[in-house]
Amino acid sequence: MLPSVALVGRPNVGKSTLFNALTRTRDALVHDEPGVTRDRHYGVCRLEGERPFVVVDTGGIAGDEEGLAGATARQSRAAAEEADLVLFVVDGREGASSLDDEILRWLRKAGRPVLLLVNKTDGLDARAALAEFARYGFADTLAVSSAHRQGIDELFDTILERL
Ligand code: GDP
Ligand code: MG
Repeated sequence: MLPSVALVGRPNVGKSTLFNALTRTRDALVHDEPGVTRDRHYGVCRLEGERPFVVVDTGGIAGDEEGLAGATARQSRAAAEEADLVLFVVDGREGASSLDDEILRWLRKAGRPVLLLVNKTDGLDARAALAEFARYGFADTLAVSSAHRQGIDELFDTILERL
């Protein structure tokens, strides 16, 4: 079985954009598995000369435990619990929100290794964007722009070191 990396975070932080950046590289192949729930989207990242790994996009954790949003949140949590590494994706433009705080509390309970990824840092001072999340206490944080593919190679290196 291949190691897996789950993308977890509130809606709209850029998880799906990141999924595309991680799986649609020149050296990567995407295998969409038919029949999997629409709230979990799997791709296999194959970087030349490296061990392949699965990337799992999730629908996002919206905080609301009722109805569809609740089902989506449960899917995200299940994906995170099964992952070898969780990328906790946050929005560098909006900064930390109470929903991010809530997700972080849950991730700590889940006990999986987590890397904090501050997305949407294009045109921002990356150091200031990271400082916004310093209180989360992560030793390892990365600033990226999924939309502009900035920091993605460094992210690949970090993922491969952790798997
Ligand atoms: P998800 O709900 O977490 O999957 O977020 P999406 O990937 O659907 O992205 C939400 C919005 O943020 C879209 O309008 C994206 O174009 C935008 N977005 C995603 N990544 C970036 C980024 O790195 N920089 C900027 N400026 N916008 C981004
Ligand atoms: Mg999405």
